[in-house]
Amino acid sequence: MLTWFDSSTDFLRAIDALDGRRRSGEAHIAAQETVAGYCVACAAVTNFAVRVGGFYGSNPNLREGLTCRGCGLSNRNRLIYSALRRRVDELPQADVALLEYLTPLFAVLRRHLPQLQGSEYISEKHVPGQVYSYHGHPVRHESITQLSYADASLDLVGHCDVLEHVYDYCAALREVRRVLRPAGQMICTVPFFMTRQEEAVLARPRDDGSIEFLGPPEYHGDGLRPEGILTWHHFGWKLLDDAREAGFSRAQIGLDYDLFCGFATNNHPRAEYGLMYPLLLRAVV
Ligand SMILES: [Zn+2]
Repeated sequence: MLTWFDSSTDFLRAIDALDGRRRSGEAHIAAQETVAGYCVACAAVTNFAVRVGGFYGSNPNLREGLTCRGCGLSNRNRLIYSALRRRVDELPQADVALLEYLTPLFAVLRRHLPQLQGSEYISEKHVPGQVYSYHGHPVRHESITQLSYADASLDLVGHCDVLEHVYDYCAALREVRRVLRPAGQMICTVPFFMTRQEEAVLARPRDDGSIEFLGPPEYHGDGLRPEGILTWHHFGWKLLDDAREAGFSRAQIGLDYDLFCGFATNNHPRAEYGLMYPLLLRAVV
């Protein structure tokens, strides 16, 4: 069941209550190659491939894994799929933009939502809103800090693990706010360090265009960029304040912990730093 939290206190209490079940349940799942479960995108009982999302040492990453054999969505993909579908069920005529396109998530979501608009970030040299040939497909380029969508033209914007790769992520939040209508929502996944308040800054750009690293460089895998993408921040609870500062009236963290539906933590071995529950960020205009 997806539950939304406005602050860390109630959220941390909720995950404390889950902890015993999490440890035993996820240890069992992590030892399997596949597990049976219910996929919310397939609306069917299916099999999830467990060990396909990378590893932390010997622990399979269950956030990027638990991939449905039917639709190809990972745990993290299904999580945002489920939240976006709920919103669209409430508002069937919603104008919706997903800031990805060449992905199983876009393909699966579009089956239920023909009006869905998708895009990819190609490079800073490309023009937002224009269509380019990219990986052999015609693809609309959009940048989360400079969207081509008009002011107040969308009801729902979704994106997945984008904000940590944007140095000026507050500009990204303001830009998404700009394109949303009254009562519009941004729903996204983001790596979230639930024990942090302020974000950690891992790197920052220098004036000359080079990058100053404040710790070991962290790159995340990306299907479209074999070199990976640089991570600038580890976010904590201040991200909700940043969203309100960007003009949203409400910002919340959503938790949907349900092992039968393949919504598990990332299975990171460090519970105090790095363990991530199946979380979403929602910001409402
Ligand atoms: Zn599925």
